[in-house]
Amino acid sequence: MEIILQDSSVKSISKDIDFAYHKENLVYNNETIEFLKPIQIKGNVTVNHGVADVKLSVNTKVLYTCSRCLENFEDTLDLMVDEKISKNEQEDENILTLEGGEVLDIRDVVVNNIYLALPRKVLCKEDCKGLCQLCGQDLNEGQCNCTQEEVDPRLAALKDMFKEV
Ligand SMILES: [Zn+2]
Ligand SMILES: [Zn+2]
Repeated sequence: MEIILQDSSVKSISKDIDFAYHKENLVYNNETIEFLKPIQIKGNVTVNHGVADVKLSVNTKVLYTCSRCLENFEDTLDLMVDEKISKNEQEDENILTLEGGEVLDIRDVVVNNIYLALPRKVLCKEDCKGLCQLCGQDLNEGQCNCTQEEVDPRLAALKDMFKEV
């Protein structure tokens, strides 16, 4: 869905937006986030003197990978887009400037807003216990048999040496 930001148009134009955008995945913090359904985009765009006023609601479902326990989990993603975008730089700093030309691609606006809405750290739950660093056991599913004392890695290496003797 593309909208041309004409500035000399006589009247402002208004467009209702209602479409679904199929996107496979996106890379975020070195993790691939998969879209489990098309991104639903609804709302309205008004263009007045080369400035687009974009108001959208966005809904989709994504597959995350927990950064602690590496489990995959699904979550819905709902967000609102409320942005003004101009093809020329404006004094008002709340108005974003469109890079390269006058064609505003609504999909780009939506994807940028999805990036901003993603959690900084992806966790399956607030208090995810993660994996045991020694044996890899998922500590959400129960304690492993490794000793729980924090072992200094240098001491750990010594310990291993003694074991071999
Ligand atoms: Zn987790
Ligand atoms: Zn363990």
